Amino acid sequence: MDTLLIDTLLSPWTLALLGLCVGSFLNVVIHRLPLMLERGWKLDSADLLGIKVDTPAEITLSTPRSRCPACGHRIAWHENIPVLSYLRLGGKCSACKSRISPRYPAFELITALLFAGLAWRFGAQASTLAWCGFAAVLVALAGIDWDTTLLPDNLTLPLLWAGLVAAATGLTVPLSSAVWGAVAGYLSLWSVYWLFKLATGKEGMGHGDFKLLAALGAWLGASMVLPVVLGASVFGAIVGIGMKLASNLREGRYVPFGPFLAGSGLAVLFIGKPTILDWLGWA
Ligand SMILES: [Zn+2]
Repeated sequence: MDTLLIDTLLSPWTLALLGLCVGSFLNVVIHRLPLMLERGWKLDSADLLGIKVDTPAEITLSTPRSRCPACGHRIAWHENIPVLSYLRLGGKCSACKSRISPRYPAFELITALLFAGLAWRFGAQASTLAWCGFAAVLVALAGIDWDTTLLPDNLTLPLLWAGLVAAATGLTVPLSSAVWGAVAGYLSLWSVYWLFKLATGKEGMGHGDFKLLAALGAWLGASMVLPVVLGASVFGAIVGIGMKLASNLREGRYVPFGPFLAGSGLAVLFIGKPTILDWLGWA
């Protein structure tokens, strides 16, 4: 392909449009993947225990078609255009006028900004598309963890493998740095988890956090694991304290760490390794 075409296809504007559509799909993933997992667990547990349960309705990423949660109105294609439909409908269901959550257009805009930012930061090359895929999975994981405190294996583990493949094909970091990044990512939180558990008898984080940090290590390289954890801890503490002060923290719940790991991973990607090593005095 000639370079002009590639430059156009991978320009920040084109990738922003792609990001809007991907963001719209991520809304579906964030909403439905936990329901799909829960349905599977329920059926598996019933099967294992040999008890009869009412089979929950089948749900996949594409079926059933999206409906308004308040009135069941089936959402037409022209009501499902990223951001624009939300604005045209004034944030209300066309049938019953109940409010549509602003987080739907917000996730579409965030994904669009991330994709455009990555195109601007890394230019028109294959690695930019790989980073867009990385960012999209992180957005989905952050949304799901925030809602349900789950980081599903069927997102964290493929993200980890994809990070190793991206390194092996020369798109990201040297392969050895990716492998050691994955190992360091997993083991660092695993050790914190066990130290915390031995000291307090409580579980401070979920196993999904280890796998997510392993994936971030595979994508960003071994030397970026510590900066990602530091960034996530600082942002997580600020938000946690803020929510406690506003007494917004759900009773008996904790602030999930995954969204902060994901956000910190993206921040590290944008800031770049040389700048971060310089800040840490490691350069
Ligand atoms: Zn409705």
